Amino acid sequence: MHRTMYKLIKRGKLFCLFTYFFVSFAWAAQTSDVQDLFTQADAVRSSNPAQFIFLIEELETHRANLSSKQTFNLDYLTGYSLSFKGKFQKALEIYKKLVTSEANETLKLKASLSIVNTYAISKNWPDGLHYLSNALNKLPLVIDDKLQQRAYAVAAIFYNQLGQFELGLGYARRLAKLSLVGRNFCFAKQLGLESQFELGLLEENDPQILEGIEACQQSNEVVMESAIYSYLAKLHLKNSNPQKAILALEENLQAIEESRYAPIIALYYSLLAESYFQIQSSVIAEDYAHRTIQQTRNIANSKPQVSSYKVLYQIAESRGDHKLALEYHKKFAEADRAYLDNIKTKHLAFQLAEHQTTEHKSRIELLDKQNNLLTIEQKLSAIKAENNRLFIAMLIAIITLLVFWAYKSWMTQKRLKQLAEYDALTGILNRGHFTQVAQSALKYCANTDMYLSCILFDLDKFKNINDSYGHACGDWVLKRVAEVCQAQGRKNDIFARLGGEEFCVVLPSCDLLTATKLAEEYRKVIERIDSADSGFDFTISASFGVTDTLRSGHALEKLIADADEAMYESKHNGRNRITVYSVPDKDADSDENTAANSDGAQADLPLFTGS
Ligand code: GH3
Ligand code: MG
Ligand code: MG
Repeated sequence: MHRTMYKLIKRGKLFCLFTYFFVSFAWAAQTSDVQDLFTQADAVRSSNPAQFIFLIEELETHRANLSSKQTFNLDYLTGYSLSFKGKFQKALEIYKKLVTSEANETLKLKASLSIVNTYAISKNWPDGLHYLSNALNKLPLVIDDKLQQRAYAVAAIFYNQLGQFELGLGYARRLAKLSLVGRNFCFAKQLGLESQFELGLLEENDPQILEGIEACQQSNEVVMESAIYSYLAKLHLKNSNPQKAILALEENLQAIEESRYAPIIALYYSLLAESYFQIQSSVIAEDYAHRTIQQTRNIANSKPQVSSYKVLYQIAESRGDHKLALEYHKKFAEADRAYLDNIKTKHLAFQLAEHQTTEHKSRIELLDKQNNLLTIEQKLSAIKAENNRLFIAMLIAIITLLVFWAYKSWMTQKRLKQLAEYDALTGILNRGHFTQVAQSALKYCANTDMYLSCILFDLDKFKNINDSYGHACGDWVLKRVAEVCQAQGRKNDIFARLGGEEFCVVLPSCDLLTATKLAEEYRKVIERIDSADSGFDFTISASFGVTDTLRSGHALEKLIADADEAMYESKHNGRNRITVYSVPDKDADSDENTAANSDGAQADLPLFTGS
């Protein structure tokens, strides 16, 4: 359809053109489904540029009603149409916006690939390589088969244009594996043939050439088909077959001119110029050479331009027009140098990109290693911290255990000491400990020449209490007696239960008189104990015996024995009383002693009785 449109424009048949637009418009209106317009636009974007541009314009009228996905799609197609119109800068802006937009990954990859194409056209190799390697890196993530094919095609085209034909051939072959029919099959063939041709691996009778031509014819890819013909023509020229070259080129010339694709038109013209020059048709050759220059006026570093200037210079020289020949030679040399410089630039760009990729890779590897190291360090410090925590927890547990153990043993020891030193029932000193303490006190008093007295008492008729009110009641009495007597005593008195209901008080620094008075106090407090607290009604009393070191000496046994003797004296005399030990007269018998005692023979000492 687009070829028809160009023919109509060319021929100036405006009426027919109007009809053409009308029909097209009516057709578009019929496709009410916007999605259909997208599908069609996508399908014809390289095979039918005019139709494509028309569809984009039609879609643009629907922009306000498009979904965000459709809007991104339209942006992408607009970018494509702008590239087609040669507005590369604007196209790039749209593509780059898309790459960083919220559009889906597939469309973003498509946009990236279009950026690569655009940079290839504008010969911005470094940026093209950058976007290409990004796109190829993302490719394994893409499951869209068509997009994968397109990526291979773009890679093959880019590398071929960059002069990296081996890489180009690799991607062309990958593309050929994925697509065995249609447009991409034609691309794969054309790109593969181009790489092989440039690598010197293609012969003019290679069956791949015809296969490629057929594949591109079937998918109506005029530009690709023409490109394959150009390789054939070049091979004919190389093999000194200019006639064959002319045939191959002219067969497609019209279609190529209709595509208005300047680079390939220029290539055809330049090849025709060379071919006609070889068969010595200088006029035609000159015409094609001029046409080439006309076509390449907007294309920098063009090989067709170089070869056309060469042809023009050679023709001028062959005509003997040296001035013109020199002029063309200058231009030829200039164009050739620019062309070679461009090739050098491409190689440099590629080498730089390769270097950057290697550097980037090694930087990533280094970062990876550093990351690993950091991770290991983090793990180690986490283990260390965990160990420290465990160690501290263990230490705390051990210390707690030790403290607990120390406390327990201290308590046990305290209890044992208590058991060993004190009477369990009354809480006052037991006989054993009393003996130790009392002996120390006696020793001290003996050394310091100090008084020491001893009171010994025994509860009266205690057995009766036990028998009448029970053993527990007896215990209660023993405890109460110890309590009231202890409350009565001085701080340094050594008060003990000698056993059963017998008690003893050793009084350091206390003379006999004071001791006797104190015994009287004891007697009274015992007597005053209220038995009602035990739940029974009875009286409590005790009989006392008192002595001191002056009378009994500093031996404890003797002291106690003498006090005991005096105590028995009290029992004997009716209980509840105090008897001071009297030293027996060696000459008198015991009865006399007792009598003397009872009679208050110790005139200086009172005899207390409770009765
Ligand atoms: P006396 O006035 O002559 O001392 O008469 P007594 O009944 O007090 O003396 P006796 O020696 O006949 O009885 C003492 C009793 O004390 C005998 C014993 O059962 C009792 N007894 C000894 N130790 C304890 C004790 O720890 N608790 C109780 N409840 N009774 C005890
Ligand atoms: Mg007794
Ligand atoms: Mg008794």
